[in-house]
Amino acid sequence: MTFQTPFGGGPGPRARAFVARDAEVISPSYTRSYPFVMDHGEGYLVWDVDGNRYLDFAAGIAVCATGHSHPAVVSAIKEQADKFLHMSGTDFYYPQQIALAERLAEITPGAGPKRAFFTNSGTESVEAAMKLARYATGRPRIVAFTGAFHGRTLGSLSLTASKVVHRRGFGPLLPGVHHVPYGYCYRCPYNLVYPDCDIACVAAIEQSLFTREVPPDEVAALFVEPIQGEGGYVVPPDGWLQRLRELCDRHGILLVADEVQSGMGRTGKWFAVDHWGVVPDIVCLAKGIASGLPLGAIVAPQQLMDWPPGAHASTFGGNPIACEAALATIDLLDNGLIDNAAALGEAMMQQLREMARRYPIIGDVRGRGLMIGVELIEGAETRKPAHDLRDRTVEACYERGLLVLGAGFNVLRFTPPLVVDRAGVDKALQIFEEAVQFVSGA
Ligand code: PLP
Repeated sequence: MTFQTPFGGGPGPRARAFVARDAEVISPSYTRSYPFVMDHGEGYLVWDVDGNRYLDFAAGIAVCATGHSHPAVVSAIKEQADKFLHMSGTDFYYPQQIALAERLAEITPGAGPKRAFFTNSGTESVEAAMKLARYATGRPRIVAFTGAFHGRTLGSLSLTASKVVHRRGFGPLLPGVHHVPYGYCYRCPYNLVYPDCDIACVAAIEQSLFTREVPPDEVAALFVEPIQGEGGYVVPPDGWLQRLRELCDRHGILLVADEVQSGMGRTGKWFAVDHWGVVPDIVCLAKGIASGLPLGAIVAPQQLMDWPPGAHASTFGGNPIACEAALATIDLLDNGLIDNAAALGEAMMQQLREMARRYPIIGDVRGRGLMIGVELIEGAETRKPAHDLRDRTVEACYERGLLVLGAGFNVLRFTPPLVVDRAGVDKALQIFEEAVQFVSGA
């Protein structure tokens, strides 16, 4: 594809008018970085209400896996909408939900029979996993990571520790939740260097937390994002997840992989844990699973997901239209999109790493597949996190026709739909480079 007409140009008068109306009636707690007001989309391109065109390298927020309104997903939705819209999965049976559970059992890590519980969002998936972990182990405590984002309802918020604004004013949160440092080698919390450190951050959980503070036999689960998302797109070092698995096994703790952001093919494999061959006990899903329809799920071995009728349920969870959208999404992922994510993600990271050599404000480029983070810094010597510079870069990208979002304090993330092609990547990186030049005065 070649792009004849320019990108960007907003906000125009219609977008400005919507933004003004929004300010009157919509909760100000949402975090909009720039005034993009969506009109329609196709693949990885989107148009605002004034007719301006943008490259969407946000995909909503890492959601629109198959691009905007993929014809196969839309027709699955339409066909199901003609049949029925709802029939409480809590109280009745319908084939769509069963078929999706069977498909999820196939693609999630680990052999053996599994079961799924369906939700409407990531936070509900995490809530379900917390409840299941407590129920199955009879233990009350949970361990999570500094920088984690697991959602905003009170249970999942108790695990979230990426930004204080998420928590301020909402306490007290759930007791018995403990946070430990993530495997974040670019800013090692122990000031060590991988691999010489021998992954001391995992050993420290046992040597410190489990020795001085928390009896490990009271811990139900350890929740981990296999690649940390909202905390700053942090990829842990090789061996880190395996060590967590071993730690959990030693103490009878369930390993819960929150793959809400990193799952469903985004990283170039079905799930981020697959990069390290680790099999979690419970997998949490949402975001990309249904290409934008609200759906989430947890998947666990049959013998683990063995709670009695009434123990957990959801009126809307596993909506039949969302299930059909998910089945269509999974077929598309299976038939080329995951491979595309792996190949283009690798190419994109290579180009970004070359850029990092030219622009000292790019401190680190990391990711897997099309889950890519660029950490912006003030300079190579200090590596001081450049928060404002990151925000200005995000805005400068918008002004030039590229939609991207921040993650963490000073990271800019690229999460395009997995249907993106080489031309789209090249154009996006050209715009990103122009934005970097602009903000750094290069
Ligand atoms: N878990 C992870 C890893 C996430 O990235 C998110 C959202 O960003 C959530 C959970 C919460 O998902 P939702 O916003 O659908 O509740």
